Amino acid sequence: MVDLKGQYEYIKDRVNASVLDVIESTAFINGPEVHQFQKELETYLGVKHVIPCANGTDALQIAMMGLGLKPGDEVITADFTFAATVEVIALLGLTPVLVDVDPVDFNIDIAAIKRAITPKTKAIVPVHLFGLVANMDAIMDIAKEHNLYVIEDNAQAIGATYTSKDGSKKMAGAIGHVASTSFFPSKNLGCYGDGGAIFTNNDDLAHTIRGIVNHGMYERYHHDVVGVNSRLDSIQAAVLRAKLPNLDDYNKARQQAARKYTKAFEGIANIITPIGCCANEGVICDDCDCHVFHQYTLRILNADRDALVKHLNEQGIPCGVYYPIPLHLQKAYKDDRYIETDFVVTNQLVKEVISLPMHTELDDEQIDFITTTVINFVTQ
Ligand SMILES: *Cc1c(COP(=O)(O)O)cnc(C)c1O
Repeated sequence: MVDLKGQYEYIKDRVNASVLDVIESTAFINGPEVHQFQKELETYLGVKHVIPCANGTDALQIAMMGLGLKPGDEVITADFTFAATVEVIALLGLTPVLVDVDPVDFNIDIAAIKRAITPKTKAIVPVHLFGLVANMDAIMDIAKEHNLYVIEDNAQAIGATYTSKDGSKKMAGAIGHVASTSFFPSKNLGCYGDGGAIFTNNDDLAHTIRGIVNHGMYERYHHDVVGVNSRLDSIQAAVLRAKLPNLDDYNKARQQAARKYTKAFEGIANIITPIGCCANEGVICDDCDCHVFHQYTLRILNADRDALVKHLNEQGIPCGVYYPIPLHLQKAYKDDRYIETDFVVTNQLVKEVISLPMHTELDDEQIDFITTTVINFVTQ
C-alpha cells in the first residue's frame, strides 16, 4: 500500500545526517529540531501556531481539551472515518454525535450536521477523508450561526488547499478554529515512528495547548490545568524537516498516480472513481490541490468487493478497506439514539469501498497491472 523504503532511498543522506546530528547532540526531547520544524510547518501552512505532539490521536484530544469542552457537550463528527476521531470524544466524557457522509466525496454530510445540532452541541469535527478537504465553507457557516467550534481532523490531508466561495485559498488545517494532524509513517507527511501536531491561529488557544501538552505547566512545576505528556521527539522532527520540503512533490506524485488510475477505469460501469476536486457548488478549482489522495478509494458496484480484495491479494496486489464497519455500529460507540435510516450512505459505502496502493513511488507498470487486474475481475 505504501513504499516507504523507495521514498527513503531519495532522502537517505539528508535524513541519516540529521538523525545522527540529533543523537550526537543528545537533545532528544524538545531539542532545536522540534522548534525548527514547528517554525517551518507554520510557514508552510500559513498558520500562526503549530504545536507538535506525540501522535494524531493525542492532537485531537488536546485540541478538544484546549477548547475547554466539558462532559455532556456534544461533538458532531462523521460516521465514516478512522476510530481515533470518535475515540477521543468519548474518552474525554464528551458525547459523540455521529452523522452520515456524502456518497460523492465521502466527507461529512452538511444536511446531516444541521439535523444533529442541539442546544448541547459545542463542536464539529470534519475529517478531510482520504485527502479531500470537506466542505469547509458550509461547515464554517453552520459553526458561525450556532456558535460552535470547528476542529479539523487533518490527519489525511496535509498539504491540501481549499478554495472558498470568495476565491480565497487556504491550507487544510488552517480553516477551522483548531486542527490536528498525524505524522504516522504512512500519512502524506510521515515520520519514522509516531508524531502529530495541532494548528491554530488563536494566540490564547495556542498558549493553553502548549501547557496542556506539557503536564499543564506554564511555569516550571506550576501545574495550572490537567495536562498530558505528549511530545514529538527530536529524531522524528529531524525526519520531518528532511521531508517537509518534498511534501508538495509527494502530493503531486499521488495526484499523478490518481489521474492514471482514474483514466484506466474510465467507462467501467461498475466502478465509481473518486472525485479529484472538492465538491463545493460554484467553486471551480483551477490548479486544484484540494485532494492530496492519502487514499485512492473506489466504489465497486454490483460485484463482490470482498472477493475482489481476496483476488488482488492473491495476485500480490495490496489493498485496503477503509473502513469496513460504520463507527455507530462499533461495540464501543453504539448508542440507542442512532437509527439506521440516518446512516444510509455509510452503511452502503462500507460494503463497496476498496483502496488501491497509493504512494509517491508508484510507476506506470504497477498502475497498469493493478488496474488491469481490477477491471478483469469486475467485468468478468
Ligand atoms: C491516522 C489518523 C488519526 C490518528 O493519528 P495517529 O497518529 O495514528 O494517532 C486520526 N484521524 C484520522 C482521520 C487518521 O487517519
